[in-house]
Amino acid sequence: MLDTVPAGDASPSWRGIEHGLELLKHGEGNIGTSSTTLDGRTVWKALWSAQVPEKVKVFVWKVANNGIPTQANKCYRHLSQLESCELCGFQREDCFHACVKCPHAVALRHAMRAHWLLPSEEDLTFTGPDWLLVLLNRSSPEAIANFLMILY
Ligand SMILES: [Zn+2]
Repeated sequence: MLDTVPAGDASPSWRGIEHGLELLKHGEGNIGTSSTTLDGRTVWKALWSAQVPEKVKVFVWKVANNGIPTQANKCYRHLSQLESCELCGFQREDCFHACVKCPHAVALRHAMRAHWLLPSEEDLTFTGPDWLLVLLNRSSPEAIANFLMILY
C-alpha cells in the first residue's frame, strides 16, 4: 500500500502516516508529558508487534496522537460548532470518549468480553493525554490486539 505513492509526490497527510509508520518500525515515539513514566520504545514496540493488520496500527497511531476527527477536534479546527458526541449526545467527544467512555463503546466491549480477552475496565481510565500508550503498557499482547481491533 505505501509503495504506491512516489516519495516526492506524497501529500502532507500521507507523509505524516509514513512518518508514523517509521516511528512505529523503529520503536520511537514522543510519549509526551503524561505523569506516568513510560518507556516509549517499549510501548511503541508493543503497538508495532501487535497481531493486528497494518491499517489498524496506523489508526491506533492516529488515536495515540489525537489525530482522529472527533467532534472536539473538529471544533478545534472550526469544522463543527458542537463538541458533543454524535452517538450518545451528552458528552464531549474527544478520543478517549470515542474509544472508551461512550456508552456505545462500553456496550461493544461488554458484548465482546464474552468472546475476547480485553483489558480490564479498571485499566481503561483516562491517565492523561497518553492514556492509550499507558494502556498498551499495562495490558497483555492478546488483550492489546483485541482492544485495538475493537477500536478500529
Ligand atoms: Zn458518546
